[in-house]
Order: sequence, then structure tokens, then C-alpha cells
Amino acid sequence: MLKSRKEPGDVIIGLEVHVQLNKLNSKLFCGCSPKYHDAEPNTHTCPVCLGLPGALPVLNEGAVVDAVKVALALNCKIEERTLFYRKNYYYLDLPKGFQISQYDYPIAIDGKISVNGTGGGERHIRIRRVHIEEDPARLVHKGPIECSRYSLIDYNRSGVALIEVVTEPDLRSPKEAREFLNVLRNILEYLDVFDESLEGALRVDANISLAGGTRTEVKNISSYRGVEKALLFEIVRQKNLVRRGIKITQETRHYDEKRGVTISLRTKEEEQDYRYFPEPDLVPLGVCNRIDDIRESLPELPDTKRQRFVQQYGISEYHAKVLTSELRLSNFFETVASEIDPILSATWIADVLKGELNYRGLGISAFPPKHMIQILQILRGKNITEKSAVQVIRTILDRGGEPADIIKQKGLIKVEESTIAKAVAEAIKENPAAVQDCRNGKNEALHFLMGQVMKKTHGRADPNIVNKLLKEKLQCT
Ligand SMILES: [Zn+2]
Repeated sequence: MLKSRKEPGDVIIGLEVHVQLNKLNSKLFCGCSPKYHDAEPNTHTCPVCLGLPGALPVLNEGAVVDAVKVALALNCKIEERTLFYRKNYYYLDLPKGFQISQYDYPIAIDGKISVNGTGGGERHIRIRRVHIEEDPARLVHKGPIECSRYSLIDYNRSGVALIEVVTEPDLRSPKEAREFLNVLRNILEYLDVFDESLEGALRVDANISLAGGTRTEVKNISSYRGVEKALLFEIVRQKNLVRRGIKITQETRHYDEKRGVTISLRTKEEEQDYRYFPEPDLVPLGVCNRIDDIRESLPELPDTKRQRFVQQYGISEYHAKVLTSELRLSNFFETVASEIDPILSATWIADVLKGELNYRGLGISAFPPKHMIQILQILRGKNITEKSAVQVIRTILDRGGEPADIIKQKGLIKVEESTIAKAVAEAIKENPAAVQDCRNGKNEALHFLMGQVMKKTHGRADPNIVNKLLKEKLQCT
């Protein structure tokens, strides 16, 4: 049982995750394209997203459909009637003086997803709400934010559709927060609602407090590792203040990714400061009659796919989890497993290939599935050793090339049993002392002799055959 009661010293974390719907063809309330990432600043704008007087918003249906998809995937209840509100505040990134968002009556409430808890076991993290809002413009600061001499404003981002996913304060450690984000990112990737490689595609605000203490909010963290690091920093900062008897101020803090610190931006606004009121230019929205269609259009989600992999392919729970952790990786596995024994495929993809990719900071698209199939076919035909197979994978990642060519160039074809037998005979002749030790039951001596044979065969002998032949010759166990 995992404890749910909060105890002194407990860390309490809630997240607000902003997901940019950057795959849509237009922004939330106008026809401008949200695909501005390679564009010159201030070229994807119109009177609506520049907030010019009299411009009227027209709701993007695609954004609503995406929001419902996300809400369903997060096991939320979709509200019958949803409203848009004006969230009033004055800032350079918001030319209208208000952001169109949702307040009471968000599109969905009361969801949950499961994550691996820090103390082991599964933990259910409740989702308080999912709502739709528009992205403000982007400010570009010269140098660190607190001493920047000027800021530039790019309105290309202004009005891009965002989904905000708000959790209950159920997360108990920075690691758990990161795990939650991984699970969420995985679901969003499967739903194909955003391209996470684009700058600003996923941004997190984290609320954090020590049990019974005052809460601070760290704004606009834009990487998964950043979330964990910002939270770790904030916990240490708060604990130090408590230890010294200093009161923690309720405030909004900024995370400086380069320096790994959080800094105070402003005292935290209260909700009433925003003067929320219903947006008079948009009618209330009902999506009930669309929910069933949208539910049917949902793709297979990570959890379901993981279970199917275990059942259909007989692979381990762990391998299924690794292989479904990215949509493209899961597709890669299924392509390979359609030609090669799935358990062998899973082992080589999840344990070997994934490790080599991670080591090089590469994604699965760096490795064609047909090459994996060829390598495993050759391996299965016992023509190369496992060690050589790893070498082929590394070579492809580092320099490219076809498996068959690499095997030929590097002379990786496994040596014949007769050649191994010759090397075994030589090793025995050259090392009488080790032979004697081996016959006396010293295991190290057998390992030594195996090493000698591998050396003579340039590491291309099958270790099982070497072992077998040595034992036969020496009649030792
Ligand atoms: Zn526009």
C-alpha cells in the first residue's frame, strides 16, 4: 500500500502541463498557421492574433477534437457544456489585455493516469482538469531574464492552440513528476496531437510545497529533465528556509535552465486578480454528440499496446514497456517481429539497439528496421557471434552501411568448428600449467584457456563451441 496521507517533510507537487497543438493547420481562433518555428518573427499574424480592436475569434474545431481525444485518453469526464473565459492580465505577450482560456466549465475533469511510484508499485495521479486556451506571444530576452536589457516580442506564437492538463497535487517527488511527464508525453505522441521536437511544444508549470508549508510556482519549464532539476532545487531551497526559520513566500519563480536555479519573478497572483468572466464573443460549446465518434477514432494507446505485446508476442513485461515507450520504437519492433522470432527481436531492440541509440543521443529513425532483420537473420543462421552482431549495429550507427558489407569488410563471419578445434589444440599445447589446473578443477584456468582460443580466432569463435571443445579435450567439468 502506498501512503496517501501527507506527513511532515513530504513533498507535494502538482503540475500544469501546456501542450501546443502544433500539428493543426491553424491557430485556435484565426486562420494563421501554427507552424511558425522556422519562420521569420511576426510573419504568422492577423488582426485576431495581434489583438487588434474589433477582431472576432472563430473557434478551431480541430483543437476541440484534439482536446477531447487527450481528455478521453487521460480517462477524464467530458463536460456537457463548456465555456471560454477571459483571463485578464496586462503583459507584453498579450496584446488584447486578456487571454481566452477556460475557467469554470473546462472541457473535461476528473481523469487519472498511472505512473511507477518512487517507492515502487503503481500510483494513480489524478487529473483535475483539461482545458483549451490560446498561447501568448513569445518573449525573447537578451541574456538572463532578471537583468535583461531588453526583450523582443514574436507574435507568431500568439493564439496557437494549447491544451492545459492540470494534475491534483498527487506527485511526491521530482522523479515521480518526471515519470508522470513521460507517461503523458507517450500518450500525446500516440494521439499524434503535437510535435514535441518543436521549441515550446510542451511547457510545464510546477506547484511545489513541503507538507503544511506555503506553495511556490515554478513557471515555464521547457524540458523533462528541467522539471526534475527545477523541483529538486526548489525542495532544497524551501527546506533551507524552513531550517533557518524563514517564512516561504507564495510567489512565482522562473527556472533558469542554464544555471539550474529558480529565481523569484513576482508574488503569486490570486485567482481573483485575473477577473475571469465569460468570453462574450464565443458561444457555450457542447461536444456530447461527438464524443462517441472521437472515442472510436482513438488509436491504440500505450497501455493497451503494452498488454497486447505481452500477450501476442510472449515478450516480457519489461521489454513491452521499453518497446511501447515510443510510438516509432513500437512500430519498429512490430516490423522486425513480423520476420524474426519476437522474443529475439525484443531482446535485441530493447536491450542492445536502444542502449546504443541512447548512448549516441539518437532516435530509432537512425536505424532502418530492415537492417535489424538482416542482422538477426544472420545471427540466427549462426554465421556471426552475438559480439559481432553488436559490432555491426555500432558500425551502422557510427558510419552507416549495409550489414552484409560490414560483416564482409570486418571479417566477422564466424570461424568453422574445425578451425576452433585447431586453436583449442594449440592453446592446450602452449599452456600445460593451465591445462593441469583445469584438470584439477580450477575454473579460472578454463576461462584462461577460452581466452587464448578467442584470441587465436580473433574473437569470432562461438564461445559455446570453444567451451564444449575445451571440456571434451581436457575432460574437465
Ligand atoms: Zn492570426
